[in-house]
Amino acid sequence: MTTTAPSAPSNASATSASPSSLPGAATSRAVVDLEAVAHNGRRLAQVAGVPWMAVVKADAYGHGLGPIALTALSAGASWLGVAQLAEALTLRTLLDEAGVARPAGKPTSEAPRVLTWLVPVMDPAGAAADDSPLRAALAADLDLSVSTLPQLEALVAAARAQGVPARLHLKVDTGMSRGGAVEEDLPALVAALRRAADEGAVDVVGLWSHLSRADEPTSGSTEEHLARYRQAEQIVRGAGLNPPLHHVAATGGLLWHPAARMDLVRVGIGLYGLSPDPSVATSAELGLRPVMRLESALVQVKRIDAGQAVSYGGTWSAPTDRWVGLVPLGYSDGVPRAASSAGPVSVGGLRTSVVGRVCMDQVVIDLGPALDESGEPLAAPAAVGDTAVLWGSPESSGQEAVPTVDEWAQACGTINYEIVTRLGARIPRCYVGGEA
Ligand SMILES: *Cc1c(COP(=O)(O)O)cnc(C)c1O
Repeated sequence: MTTTAPSAPSNASATSASPSSLPGAATSRAVVDLEAVAHNGRRLAQVAGVPWMAVVKADAYGHGLGPIALTALSAGASWLGVAQLAEALTLRTLLDEAGVARPAGKPTSEAPRVLTWLVPVMDPAGAAADDSPLRAALAADLDLSVSTLPQLEALVAAARAQGVPARLHLKVDTGMSRGGAVEEDLPALVAALRRAADEGAVDVVGLWSHLSRADEPTSGSTEEHLARYRQAEQIVRGAGLNPPLHHVAATGGLLWHPAARMDLVRVGIGLYGLSPDPSVATSAELGLRPVMRLESALVQVKRIDAGQAVSYGGTWSAPTDRWVGLVPLGYSDGVPRAASSAGPVSVGGLRTSVVGRVCMDQVVIDLGPALDESGEPLAAPAAVGDTAVLWGSPESSGQEAVPTVDEWAQACGTINYEIVTRLGARIPRCYVGGEA
């Protein structure tokens, strides 16, 4: 991992090959503070008081899979979690390359474990083939989620063919109605799991679920989820299965529902220094440090006349003679088009915003009046090459003008999760604060 001074935009510090590391690419970058990742992980682990899983799906919420996973492990995570099997296989390769020990098939291993929960549904014959993704999952020593009988049949076929038991976490639907077995389908699934366990084709190591409204501390929804979870647990135990690990909480459950912490918490958004719901508690109130700063450099600064319209559709016009700046980031980079005339930006100590529509690769920002009250020309407050920060951490940068991811989410009518995960692949991620 490279360590770079946070304030000097430079493509030389990009750690991954991306189009922006090519000569001539725009000088935008996402600075990812690994020290903040470690701080957030330790902080949330302290609140939870139980082992934690770092959720690193979607390229670690846009922050970069490998560096975040390794930082989380060194901060004490005992699990890593991803949605898709393909991500889990990539992660295993990264961990192997970094020399991280594997659980080596042992259900109770101390080595970091990797759980993936969107396991493809296959027909059992395909699952037994040499090149099946399920056999690759078993060879990669992953923990897998199971929600349905067809999924289980494919996993059993793969396990027989591979000659190793599949380590499974039975997912139950406790009220989210997304993945997971509903109560009426559970007895048949549990019976099949029991047979597969007796045969040695599977180890049922976990019972788990996911909460739909954990960011509502008092709605009663989470209590209903937990009651359904207990019913499911009865059915599982009734079949003689006794999975050692119980887990339902993501960041919101961990923070706001102590009863949901159980044996393991799955920490996603909080690890990245963001609150699951800033209207309940902000990052700062939670003692979390936002990890990502998105910055670019102004490529043009110019003066436009009062009344001049800016960008496609002319949706914003200069209220007075105005300085404007051009930032080479657009919706193809993950700056939502919904941020048109709304997304906050800072340049030096100046707090301003996007004006006019967000384009594919560019946005225009307002830099203020070009004339003072007496009609005398005002110098431009910023110059070509100056750093424009779209979002970051006002506290850790010491710059109050720096907007937060939460402000962007609010300006775009979305959530902080979507702002960071949609950051485009061509933006290099530059890591600071990590071990050299
Ligand atoms: C994304 C996800 C998490 C992490 O959620 P956060 O709210 O980001 O902490 C945990 N568990 C599952 C199943 C998920 O899909």
